[in-house]
Amino acid sequence: METATSEKIPVWFDIDGTLLHTKAGHGAFRVALEEIYGWRDTLVEVRFAGNTDLRVLLDLAEKHGGCPRETRRKQESFFTRMAEHLDRGLHAESPELVPGAYELVHALQSRGDVSLGLLTGNARLCAMIKLRHVGLDIHFSEGAFGDQHHDRNHLARMAVELLAGSAGMNGGHAARKGLVIGDTTRDVRAAKEIGARCLAVATGSDGPYELKAAGAERVVTDLHPTPALLDWILAGEGHLGK
Ligand SMILES: [Mg+2]
Repeated sequence: METATSEKIPVWFDIDGTLLHTKAGHGAFRVALEEIYGWRDTLVEVRFAGNTDLRVLLDLAEKHGGCPRETRRKQESFFTRMAEHLDRGLHAESPELVPGAYELVHALQSRGDVSLGLLTGNARLCAMIKLRHVGLDIHFSEGAFGDQHHDRNHLARMAVELLAGSAGMNGGHAARKGLVIGDTTRDVRAAKEIGARCLAVATGSDGPYELKAAGAERVVTDLHPTPALLDWILAGEGHLGK
């Protein structure tokens, strides 16, 4: 018998550096930025890892003297254009899956007691395109995305409210049962913001020591769903503090 939605363990995945790697996002952002806003920027000073697309856009608007209101007014056109370029870029060069990511998503998705969601700095369109290129889009429909708010911690609270709303459960309870899986200290902080556990995957952006120091309860170097890792994920809040 399937577990009631309200009893499921929420697992929120970051995308870049956590499920997959791709360089196409950088170029897509740069080209769309010039097409929609007329700003030429190499983006060499931008740190995308752990950031949100909207935060990056607003910082670039400030750098280039753009009006914040005008920037926000055109943001939908910008992210739509960026998604088009991203899709072309990913057709030319497919994203590279993080080892074990595909297997972990499938292992969790096949269970009745886990609810999968996204907590990503990617704009929604871009997030779903990246996942589609690695065959993971069908497992994710809900989440908080980087064009909805510029602050990742706020996105984490949105993800909880969304889940709590659809499951008819208390948000705090949902978060404490939940798990954020990400690759940067910003993901860890977002998990701490909502009182969820964090599984950090050290794939390059931030090292294992930094991730642990930021508060990640568990740090791994790949996402292979070993019995030990699955047991830990499914143990829920019982592992907090251990
Ligand atoms: Mg990431």
